[in-house]
Amino acid sequence: MPLALYDTWSRTVRPFTSILVGKVGMYCCGPTVYDYAHIGNLRTYVFEDILRRALTRNGYEVRHVVNITDVGHLTSDADEGEDKMEKGSRRAGKSAWAIARSFTEAFVADWRALNLLEPTVWSRATDHIAEQIAFIRELERAGYVYRTSDGLYFDTGKQDDYGFLARLDRAGLQAGKRVAVGDKKNITDFALWKFSPPDITRQMEWDSPWGRGFPGWHIECSAMSAKYLGHWFDLHCGGEDHIAVHHSNEIAQTQAAHGTRLANFWMHGHFLTLDSHTKMSKSSGDFIRLQTLQNRNIDAIAYRYLCLTAHYRSKLHFSWASLDAAQIALNRLRHLYSGWPDGGRIDPDFVARFNVEVDEDLNLPRALAVLWELVKSPLPPATLRATVDNFDSVLGLGLRDWKPLVSDIPENIQVLLSEREQARAKKDWAKADDIRKTLTARGWRVEDSKEGQRLIGITTGATDIGHE
Ligand code: AMP
Ligand code: ZN
Repeated sequence: MPLALYDTWSRTVRPFTSILVGKVGMYCCGPTVYDYAHIGNLRTYVFEDILRRALTRNGYEVRHVVNITDVGHLTSDADEGEDKMEKGSRRAGKSAWAIARSFTEAFVADWRALNLLEPTVWSRATDHIAEQIAFIRELERAGYVYRTSDGLYFDTGKQDDYGFLARLDRAGLQAGKRVAVGDKKNITDFALWKFSPPDITRQMEWDSPWGRGFPGWHIECSAMSAKYLGHWFDLHCGGEDHIAVHHSNEIAQTQAAHGTRLANFWMHGHFLTLDSHTKMSKSSGDFIRLQTLQNRNIDAIAYRYLCLTAHYRSKLHFSWASLDAAQIALNRLRHLYSGWPDGGRIDPDFVARFNVEVDEDLNLPRALAVLWELVKSPLPPATLRATVDNFDSVLGLGLRDWKPLVSDIPENIQVLLSEREQARAKKDWAKADDIRKTLTARGWRVEDSKEGQRLIGITTGATDIGHE
């Protein structure tokens, strides 16, 4: 069965075929770096990482572009309020540039901790001001731009199908007018370029043919995706909140200037929710970071595992209990896996079943169920290891690289290990062998190398398992 993906544009799961044979262009809206990412944001990047790995498994070479929004995202999606970067700068008492740099670094650290594959291109909005200005000029030439007292706006009234991605009720919106229109012609019009206020010197501002100022938020993604992927590429992703405004506006811009709806597939990850069932939002200041989990001795990969337990198109309700359960399941898998020897062959039936789940719109909860069925099957340990390895190219749990932390090893086992180290130092090989047998009997496998002894993990049926 070929890979099939849900496309928000058509509201259907349809077979995926790439525009160019064997190659996929994928653009993912990245973070606004005025604060740390919260674990809700990170859920969306885990979904996109799984998508990328599934595409690679299906034989595609993926060009993956992620932008960093470091200017232009205003506190209100209606293009009002303050630039989030300038606000973050005031709050922290540091320059907007310093804020952008340090939160970008923190974001990339979270990215790596979650074992997300490095994008082909990280593209920063402030590195692409010229491209954004050039794009606005194209829109101007096509007749979609008008000027107000505070900036240049895109005239959505000129597009009959504006907002199709969100199935927007434009007539209803216009009649209700709950959002202030200001100088705008239509409620849905959005800023392409904002002028710096005459009495304030902004930290981030540039000259343009229309006056000093800064780009609107949506133009960066149309301009940067065009630069790195062209005007018509395979996949555009983000969180579900982007459907109504940000992605609708990106489509409007590219359609106006280049006549395409930008991407063949539009894919959206659903939200991680907290107890009140409200969305987790950075702007509310009340959010959980990856570091918050790590401070509670829960590792980043356990959060990744938790994300795999829910389909990307359902809400995932966060609780500490579910995260603890994910950590326990992950530890169990790690211990089992590390006790199995290398050198086996994959089991083709299990791989085929796993592929069916992944290819059916990334059904990772069901793919995980196949994994646990495999793990509990009577197949030889080397086959289990080879097959789980194969699955991990999509799951991204990094099982092969995992080493037990000292904190994972029970104290009695640690005592035996240090006694064995002393015996080895004294070249008392008989004693070292005896202790090895004791360790194996308790389920802990130890290997010797030039660098010293190395605890590999546990053998199946062990009794002393750290987190069990
Ligand atoms: P931002 O840094 O706010 O621009 O958001 C970065 C990404 O996280 C975007 O793709 C958002 O759609 C996504 N996002 C924001 N909140 C959540 C949430 N609670 N759960 C999942 N994804 C989210
Ligand atoms: Zn975007």
